[in-house]
Amino acid sequence: MTDQCVFCRIARGEIPAKIVAESAACLAFRDLNPEAPVHVLVIPREHYASLNEVKSPQVLADVMQLAVEVARHEKIADRGYRVVLNINSDGGQTVFHLHAHVLGGRHMTWPPG
Ligand code: AMP
Ligand code: ZN
Repeated sequence: MTDQCVFCRIARGEIPAKIVAESAACLAFRDLNPEAPVHVLVIPREHYASLNEVKSPQVLADVMQLAVEVARHEKIADRGYRVVLNINSDGGQTVFHLHAHVLGGRHMTWPPG
């Protein structure tokens, strides 16, 4: 199953991606269809279909730590940004490998669509 997963394939270097940052546990790369001037995805290298499958809080700590590093690297940390996890159908998830969207560089509206 992870053989065909597009984000597992990016993590293995089989599909090209614009890598922004990485850590031992996670990888950050630019979204193919950006919704904001800064739109980076942070994934754990290990495959989890969604947040629902995560058993250890360390996975989320690793994802969030790299998300903050990305925000600093992209110089949006002080202005502000949004970190989004979409989960399953109603959440709007389309790629079933856990990922956090790091969005910034413009003002975000609320409530989200
Ligand atoms: P979600 O809808 O939360 O599952 O988000 C999936 C995101 O992955 C979307 O914003 C897509 O634009 C993005 N995406 C899909 N395939 C790729 C890829 N090969 N490289 C970078 N981003 C991708
Ligand atoms: Zn995967």
